[in-house]
Amino acid sequence: MILIVDDAPENIISLKKVLEKNGFEVDTAASGDEALKKILKKSYVLIILDVQMPGMDGFEVAEAISGYSKAKETAIIFLSAASANVNLITRGYSSGGLDYISKPVDMNVLLLKVKTFYRIYEQSRALNEMQKKLLEEIEFRKEAERKKDEFISIASHELKTPMTSIKGYIQLLERSIDKNDVETVKIRLHKVQNQIEKLNLLVADLLDISKIESGKLKFNKRYFSFDDILDHIIEVMQQANPAIKLIRTGHINTEIFGDEMRIEQVIINFITNAIKYAPDSDEVHITSELRGSEIYFSVRDFGIGMAKEHQLQIFDKFYRVEETSERFQGLGIGLYICQEIIQRHQGTIGVNSEPGEGSEFYFNIPIHPEKDMNTN
Ligand code: ADP
Repeated sequence: MILIVDDAPENIISLKKVLEKNGFEVDTAASGDEALKKILKKSYVLIILDVQMPGMDGFEVAEAISGYSKAKETAIIFLSAASANVNLITRGYSSGGLDYISKPVDMNVLLLKVKTFYRIYEQSRALNEMQKKLLEEIEFRKEAERKKDEFISIASHELKTPMTSIKGYIQLLERSIDKNDVETVKIRLHKVQNQIEKLNLLVADLLDISKIESGKLKFNKRYFSFDDILDHIIEVMQQANPAIKLIRTGHINTEIFGDEMRIEQVIINFITNAIKYAPDSDEVHITSELRGSEIYFSVRDFGIGMAKEHQLQIFDKFYRVEETSERFQGLGIGLYICQEIIQRHQGTIGVNSEPGEGSEFYFNIPIHPEKDMNTN
């Protein structure tokens, strides 16, 4: 938008007409005071400023707006009598570009100058935009780098913990073997096995992450019974967690098309989290049902829950709720992998949760995904 400032209405009218005819948006002010008020409120690309005006003259207006943040990139074309001292023009104004035209105004020259200022303005806006994008990109990369470093340190710690336990149990095992204490040997062997299983799961998750990153997470889809895998998982997890009641509702009663092992991985992840993040509760509710041509599956716990702002982010890679990350160990990659698996089954994944009330994690997947998407 261009602002024309002139005390002579006939000048304003003719300038306005020519500029508008050439596609420019134009605003007008009949005095320096009026111009200042307008410039305070609005940003202009260019101000065409009559030098000789009663009251505040053009130079004074230019000097006054040099401090306005809204006029930081505004250019000025002075309209001056031929006798005006052009050196005065630069006085006090260093913000946008400056130029002048002698009166009477040659419209062709004015138009040429206006177009040049507009082009410079567009170019500098494009440059600023690009600079902003580059800065955002740098920030994004820095943040990703920071998260990765943090992840490596947590991952090393998580891997070290079961390793240290295994080392300790093996030393104890040696002693029990020396004493021929077969019962204790069995107990300790079992503990070693548990720790190895933990390590195994951690390494599997780490491998999954790198496969997702490189687009190499493969799916082996076929028809299988969802009810059967759920029965099996609940049986095994119930045995491993006798203090928790895994309460199951609903059945699917039909086969679904998908990668059985990967769907199993999601279910186990939901239930493991439900147990882990609800240390003071002894119930987990597991629901599965057919909704039209989709499976609905959910795991509800009565644990720590989480605030809305976290619910949007917990499926992001490496995201962990900060307030509770000291209390509960983890890498913040399980749900990210779950999301990838469900999305690759053309499904949706989500959570409903209230802090202190518990969480419900769920997914929906179609039983018969579209044929052309079955291949991966
Ligand atoms: P991890 O549990 O290893 O940190 P996940 O990707 O499984 O990684 O979970 C990401 C984060 O989501 C967890 O760190 C935790 O803050 C939150 N979370 C996951 N499941 C639950 C749950 N059932 N209740 C409360 N918070 C949960």
